[in-house]
Formats: sequence, C-alpha cells, structure tokens
Amino acid sequence: MSYDLVVIGTGPGGYVCAIRAAQLGLKTAVVEKRATHGGTCLNVGCIPSKALLHASEAFEEANKHFGELGIEVGTVKLDLKKMQAFKQGGVDGNTKGVEFLLKKNKVDTYHGRGRIAGAGRVEVIAEDGGNQMLETKNIVIATGSDVTRLPGVTIDEKTVVSSTGALELDRVPKKLVVIGAGVIGLELGSVWRRLGAEVTVVEYLDRVLPGMDGEVGKQFQRILAKQCMVFKLSTKVTGVETGKKGATVTVEPAQGGEPEKLDADVVLVAIGRVPFTEGLGLETVGVATDDKGRIETDSHYATNVTGIYAIGDVIAGPMLAHKAEDEGVAVAEILAGQSGHVNYGVIPNVVYTFPEVASVGKSEEELKKDGIAYKAGKFPFTANGRAKANGTTDGFVKILADEKTDRVLGVHIVGADAGNLIAEVAVAMEFAASAEDIARTCHAHPTLTEAVKEAALAVDKRAIHV
Ligand SMILES: Cc1cc2nc3c(=O)[nH]c(=O)nc-3n(C[C@H](O)[C@H](O)[C@H](O)COP(=O)(O)OP(=O)(O)OC[C@H]3O[C@@H](n4cnc5c(N)ncnc54)[C@H](O)[C@@H]3O)c2cc1C
Repeated sequence: MSYDLVVIGTGPGGYVCAIRAAQLGLKTAVVEKRATHGGTCLNVGCIPSKALLHASEAFEEANKHFGELGIEVGTVKLDLKKMQAFKQGGVDGNTKGVEFLLKKNKVDTYHGRGRIAGAGRVEVIAEDGGNQMLETKNIVIATGSDVTRLPGVTIDEKTVVSSTGALELDRVPKKLVVIGAGVIGLELGSVWRRLGAEVTVVEYLDRVLPGMDGEVGKQFQRILAKQCMVFKLSTKVTGVETGKKGATVTVEPAQGGEPEKLDADVVLVAIGRVPFTEGLGLETVGVATDDKGRIETDSHYATNVTGIYAIGDVIAGPMLAHKAEDEGVAVAEILAGQSGHVNYGVIPNVVYTFPEVASVGKSEEELKKDGIAYKAGKFPFTANGRAKANGTTDGFVKILADEKTDRVLGVHIVGADAGNLIAEVAVAMEFAASAEDIARTCHAHPTLTEAVKEAALAVDKRAIHV
C-alpha cells in the first residue's frame, strides 16, 4: 500500500493528525499496536482518570456534603465494581468514537507495531507475527510516552502500581502511599482518598505540583491537607519492599537523615513519564533523540531525517493531550502546504481534583527569573457570589499582567471548575488581551467567571467585591 502519510500511534496526537491530514486531501493511514485507538489518554490516562474523579467526587458529596444541602440519603455505599464499569463505559465510548472518526474520514487503520524500515517505509508487525509493508511519502511518529520507573522498584500493577494499575484497583486500599506530588499522583490519590483510603504523598521536592505557580501550589496543598491527604515533602524514597500483606516504603529526608518506614497496601509510583520509542526502528534511519530520549524536531516537527516528523509526548514540551492534538493538526497542515503552528505560550494546564487547579502562561517565579516586571491581581472565591451560594469558596484567581503594557502574561486559578474557567483567559491571551480587556468584558452573574473579571480589575487595584 502507498500513502501520502502514515502516522504511527493513535493517541490524541496521532489520530487528530490523521483526521486533519485526510480532511486536507492526503491519503492517510494509521498504525496502532493497542487493540483500541485513543492512546494513553483515552485508554489509561485522561479519560479513565476523569471518570473515576467524577464518580468518586459524587460519592464524597453524597457521603459528606449532601446533608449540608438538606438532602438526607442515609448510608451511602460504594459499589467499586460498578464504578469501574462506569469508568470503562467512558473509555469504550471514546475509543469507539475515534474508530468511527477515522473511518468517516477514510483513514486506513492497521493494527500492530509500526517499525520504520527505511525512508518512506513502515513495517506493521501484527501480534500473530504477520507483517505488512506500507510505502509512504511522509511518516509522523506519535508514539507517546510510558511510565517513568523508580530505580530498584518493580511495578507489579497489584501492590506497586503505576497510574495504569491505580485506575484498575478492585478494592480500596486501606493505606495508599503515592510517590510523586505531580498531577497524576494528586488526581489518583484524591480518587482513592475519597473512596476511603488513607493517602500519604511522598515528594522529593519541597512543594506539590512542581513547575506550577508557587502560591497556587502552597494553597492547593493546604486544601488537600484539610481533606486529610498527608504530605511528606523534601523526602526521598530509598526502597519499596513488598510482602504478603502489602508493601513497606522506606523514606528519608531528601538531604539525608534518619530513615522512616511507611506501611502501605498499595504504592503508586507517579514520578513522571518518559517518551516511548521502543521497537520503532529509529536507529534504522538515524532519527536523532535528545538526552531525555525525546525525538528532536525543528519548529515544523521535522526530525533530522527527511520525510519523518514527530509530535506529542514523544517530543519536547508539556506532556498533555491537547498539546499533542494541536501539534497533530499543525504538522498535518504543514504537510499539506499550509502554515500550521502551535502557540506554546498559551497551553492550559489543569489538575482535575476538587477544587481544580488551572493555569496558563507564566508563573510568578518564571516572570521573576526572566526579569519581566508585572502586576498581579488576585480575587478569592470567598468573595464570589456564586461560590458562596454553592459553598465552594476555596481558592482564588490570580492574573499576572505586564507592568507597562497590561498584557496578560499568566493566569492561575485554584477553585471549583477552574479547568473550564481557564478557557476564557486562554482565548484572551491568544488575542494578546490586556487585563483591562478582560475587566471590561461583561461576565454573567452569578457565575464563577466573575472572579476572573474581578482578578482582572484587581490588576488595576479596582476590584469591586473585596
Ligand atoms: C493517568 C493519566 C492521566 C492523564 N490525564 C491527562 C489530562 O487530564 N489531560 C491531559 O491533557 N493529559 C493527561 N494525561 C497525559 C496524556 O495522556 C498524554 O499527554 C497524551 O496521551 C499524549 O498523546 P500522544 O498522542 O502523544 O501519545 P499517547 O496517547 O501515549 O499515544 C501513543 C500511542 O502510540 C502507540 N504506539 C507506541 N509505539 C507504537 C508503535 N511502534 N507502533 C504502533 N503504535 C505504537 C501506543 O500504543 C499509543 O496508543 C494523562 C496521562 C496519564 C497517564
């Protein structure tokens, strides 16, 4: 078979790239080694984690907060098997949706491991060993990422689990130790805490959500601690031993000191993800990777080998589904002779706990490091009418704007629905808005979005409701 484009991997980067390429008239095929499309995101990432976050939040609401609303429900019982089936329903609905979209757009699909056999040649190796050779003008590598392992710690996906195993537990662990206070650790830690686990989070650094705005991290940690999540920051894990009854995690202060042992029924290793290029045959054609194993590309996603491109988690940049999708669209448009591009300055980042955390653009730490003078406007949800009415007053909106031009440089939100609230400011930033532009935009009352408007007013020290 001969194609204009063969995409290897059908995660959010790959399948979106294939659909956009087909829309633009390129004869396109995808190769996927999983039985279902959608990659990490739809199968073992964004979608199943959000389904469990949604269901566990509803459980906790019914268990602890319905009474405050005057709703008596009696004893709330967990049916974990059913909750897991609910999660799987969300996954199946999404993966089938991608299959439908690929078919609708006349993208040919091949199941098996894709291996680059040479310039313009992709070999598809099926699970039964059968193989097929595809000829193509262009190849896009969208093979995503895999779990980062902790040296000396074996992940058995039962007692010591990665995010994949943590999404599949068939019982609520009494004690869960989470290694890593990043997004995945805090989201999945929240799921199992809500369902009844005692959760301890061990983090090497002195803060949660490394990389996000420091003030946001501090406030968020306080909120999670109030929810009974225990944090051991500036602490390193030196060993995990498993036995018949669970595991023992040995930790000590990051800078050295007395070791301590933590008992756990389940240990979640959530220390990050690494690009996945195993078995891809990069060496056959000499595709260059960097010291972190990421495929090197130029600003047009081209690798050092003519006709081979790469996008998504397998290249540099934030490991986020929407970043992969936008790169998929951009590279397809470039291949079709258009000028696709991604604005890396405006990629929202969301933590889907309760409350949520969302940010876009620069943090205060980054602005200080870059020597950029800025003004900050902050508005707490305790002063927002809708948040008061809903009883969801934890958190704030912070807008950082250039001191001279007032252009919005970064926005950071901790609060209910922060993941949706961030969209308005992402659009504003894409249009190079000033804080005043947001402040002068009429926001519906009573909504949480008014906190965004008030934070924009606060940049000019003229918030109304504080
Ligand atoms: C628990 C968890 C929760 C997450 N939650 C979010 C979230 O809420 N929001 C968000 O934006 N991001 C989230 N992410 C990150 C998100 O899943 C990734 O950023 C995204 O999936 C990357 O997309 P991708 O297309 O680059 O790669 P992937 O989604 O990893 O897809 C790569 C695909 O390539 C296939 N493949 C690999 N090698 C080959 C080969 N040789 N031949 C054929 N096929 C191959 C793989 O089977 C896979 O299907 C989460 C991740 C995890 C683990």
